Amino acid sequence: MTVQNRLYLDHAATTPVLPEARTAVAQALDRWANPSSPHADGRASRAALEQARRDIADALGWRHDIILTSGATEAIAIAAARARVAGRSFSATEHDAVGAAMGSEATILPVDEAGAVDLPQLRAALSRGPTLVAVQQVNNETGVVQPVADVGRVCRERGIHLHCDAVQAAGKIDIDVNLLAADTLSLSAHKIHAPKGIGALYVRRGLTLEPLIAGGAQERRRRAGTENVPLAAAFGAAATLAADANVRPIIASLRNRFESALRQSLDVVIHGADTERVVNTSSVMFRGADAEGIAIALDLEGIAISTGSACSSGRVEPSGVLLAMGLTPEEAKSTVRVSLSRFTTGEEIERVVEVLLRVVPRCLRSS
Ligand code: PLP
Repeated sequence: MTVQNRLYLDHAATTPVLPEARTAVAQALDRWANPSSPHADGRASRAALEQARRDIADALGWRHDIILTSGATEAIAIAAARARVAGRSFSATEHDAVGAAMGSEATILPVDEAGAVDLPQLRAALSRGPTLVAVQQVNNETGVVQPVADVGRVCRERGIHLHCDAVQAAGKIDIDVNLLAADTLSLSAHKIHAPKGIGALYVRRGLTLEPLIAGGAQERRRRAGTENVPLAAAFGAAATLAADANVRPIIASLRNRFESALRQSLDVVIHGADTERVVNTSSVMFRGADAEGIAIALDLEGIAISTGSACSSGRVEPSGVLLAMGLTPEEAKSTVRVSLSRFTTGEEIERVVEVLLRVVPRCLRSS
C-alpha cells in the first residue's frame, strides 16, 4: 500500500485501517452509552457490542466464548494467568508477549530448521508434569505455519491446556479451533486492518478464567472495564473482510513474484520457503549483507520493510526466532522481512525489487 508515494511493506507489524472499519468506528461513536446500563441507550450500545462479537466469531467460524481485550498481549496474559499448574512450556519462536506471560521459569521448546516445534521435545516436556503449552499458529518474522493441530492432539491426549497465538494467522489462513484443539487462542485487530487497542481471547466453553484486572462484571467477569464499542465494531467489520479467502492466492502470487525476482539476481535465502507459510510474508536473507543498512536504504527510497531483528535498549540484537531456527547471528543480521497485504500491487513489487537490486550490493559487509 502506498501512502503519499511511500510504499508500505511491513504488514506483519501492523496494517492500515480499512474504510469499512473507519465507518464502523464512526457509527459506533454515536452509540456512546455504557453497554452495561439497563436503559434503552445502554441496550443499544450492548446490541452493537454483541453484534461485533458475533461478527468476529462468525468470520472465524467459531462458537464458544470470545473475550474482547486491549490487544493480543493482554489476551495472552489472561490465558497464561489462567493456568493453575506450575509448569509452562512455549515454542522458541513465540512472540515476546508469550515469553513474558509464561515467565522466566518456563520450558522453551526447540524448533527445527524450518521453525516448526519439535514434537518429541514437546512430549518430553509434558511427561515432566502438567504444564500450560503455548504454540503460535504462524510466526511473525517468517510466516511459517506451526503444526498446531499435532501439538493440540498431544496436549488433548494428556489433558494439557494449549494456548495458540493466532495473531499472524488471522486473514491469511483458516483458524479452525476444533482442528487446532486449542483451549484458548489470541487475536489482534490491528493486524487485520482495524485500529490498535483491541484484541480477542477465544475461550473453549467451560474453561474458568481468572481476570487479570479485578473490577466490574464485564466480559462475563473475565475482563473488567467499560467495553470499547467503537473498536469492537471496527474489529467486527475487519474480521468479516479478513474472512474473504479469495484475496489470498493473489497475495501469494505477488509474494512468489517478489521472491523469484530476488533469487534470479541476488544471493538470497528465503527462510521457511520449503515449508508451509502464510501468503504475505517473506523472510529474506541477503547473504553477506547488513539487513539494517538495507532497511535504512529502502526507507530513504520511501519503502518501509523491517529487519528480522528486535531492537532492545538501543542495541540491535539478532532475531531470536532466526537463531532458534539454527541461523548464525551474522545470518540473522542479514535477514529482512517484507510483508504484503490485500492492497499490495504488482507495480509495488516491481518497485521494491528494483530498489533492492540497486541497494543490496552497497550493503555487503565486505564492501
Ligand atoms: N503475537 C504476535 C505473533 C504478534 O505478531 C503480535 C504483534 O506484533 C502480538 C502477539 C501482540 O499483539 P498486540 O499488538 O495486539 O498486543
